[in-house]
Amino acid sequence: MEANILTVCYLLASVSFILGLKMLSNPATARKGNLIAAAGMAIAIAGTIFLYTDEQGQPLHNYPWIFAALAIGAVAGTLAAKKVQMTAMPEMVSLFNGMGGACAALISIIEFGHLKGELTTGDITGTLIVICTGLIIGSVSFAGSVIAWGKLNGKIKDISFKGQHLFNIVLLLALVVLAVYLTMNFESINPLLFYIIFVGALVYGIFFVLPIGGADMPVVISLLNSFTGVAAACGGFLYHNKAMLTGGILVGAAGTLLTILMCKAMNRSLTNVLIGSFGASAKPGAASATSQGSYKEISVSDTAMLMAYAKKVMVVPGYGLAVAQAQHACHELEKILEEKGVEVKYAIHPVAGRMPGHMNVLLAEADVSYDKLLEMEQANEEFASTDVVLVLGANDVVNPAAKSDPASPIYGMPILDVELAKHCIVNKRSMKPGYAGIENDLFFRPKTSMLFGDAKKVLQELITEVKAI
Ligand code: NDP
Repeated sequence: MEANILTVCYLLASVSFILGLKMLSNPATARKGNLIAAAGMAIAIAGTIFLYTDEQGQPLHNYPWIFAALAIGAVAGTLAAKKVQMTAMPEMVSLFNGMGGACAALISIIEFGHLKGELTTGDITGTLIVICTGLIIGSVSFAGSVIAWGKLNGKIKDISFKGQHLFNIVLLLALVVLAVYLTMNFESINPLLFYIIFVGALVYGIFFVLPIGGADMPVVISLLNSFTGVAAACGGFLYHNKAMLTGGILVGAAGTLLTILMCKAMNRSLTNVLIGSFGASAKPGAASATSQGSYKEISVSDTAMLMAYAKKVMVVPGYGLAVAQAQHACHELEKILEEKGVEVKYAIHPVAGRMPGHMNVLLAEADVSYDKLLEMEQANEEFASTDVVLVLGANDVVNPAAKSDPASPIYGMPILDVELAKHCIVNKRSMKPGYAGIENDLFFRPKTSMLFGDAKKVLQELITEVKAI
């Protein structure tokens, strides 16, 4: 009876994960989707704790440990999620992802201990393959995510050495060979080999992410996320736990799809990502283009005039908008312009900001209507019929060097063609470069005017000026 109820719990959880994931693909339903998937996870956890029985019909024990861990995890997770700044979200995602990988690796370590400690009968090759897979992928994901976290918050610098490509490939092959050897010779093997594979996988995770810098970071985080999904699915196999299996497969598949989409957005091949040493030239601070000459400035009142008398305005939000927390002011300006009959839309680059969907989340927080958000391809078709483009704290995603300068670290990354509009006004605080650390020729082009200042302050001034027109 209890086993049947547990099966229903897992079924409910699996359905909620699929439904939640589907709803996450649209900003209008994303919040609800997240809650539904979280509720499904709660049902799966409660069901496992209270209804699970092993082959001998024994329920779980160790309740104090289980509840203590749950309480610590829930408090830490809630506090972290409540306190985190929008700009630091990718770091948190990276850390949470790393924790998932660590859990999967720990499951493999515990289950290997069980296998070694018991007199096992029957063919355990399948179990060993799953244990080793979970160990390697989980450890790579954990170590890689911690490095990604350190890189995103600037604590860890990009490090690479000559021959790192080869080193990574040889290390990965060695891990696979050792895992196969361990699986085939389990009875006679020294358990130390298992821990050597564990440490080797951690080292691979570190060297996999260490050299990667600049503009390619989103791909890495997304890829590591898919690794964690696969590692969690291994846990599902080991415990015959369908909810864990479904959840893991969904995370693995969603992460892989996102990785492919991000690769396209960043113009990188997946093979290049898997080799583990790409984008190193895109280090923040590594200026490529030289100074382009003079630029022209525009005042707030002239900008207000241009926008108020425009037919169509396109806002291009970037990382600076998030830093300035200017999303509400931006929405306010949009409403005032629309009252004056101006059509206002937003052009969203897939890697604007510091995480996939960063701008969508920010603008949704300020109640900007979803149908005003144009994806890059759509926006690029509309720039030619746009009177004024207002770039708010964006830089790399509007850098024409991505199209014209093969020496640029962002060469090949699709960009927003803001230059096609009649006027392009760029708001930022200075002429400093963005994340990729390179100069932006757009600022020096004839149709571009610079509007210096903090995005929120500038927008508030613009609101006052436009109201007065
Ligand atoms: P960038 O980082 O290229 O540029 C942001 C600009 O905002 C800076 O040049 C800065 O100039 C300006 N800025 C900072 N603070 C303010 C402020 N308070 N008010 C006004 N402007 C401000 O941002 P983009 O969004 O154009 O590009 C994102 C970059 O991040 C890409 O290179 C992308 O690859 C990378 N990335 C993206 C991730 C993702 O998943 N989305 C994850 C990790 C990296 P100034 O200092 O002069 O004000």
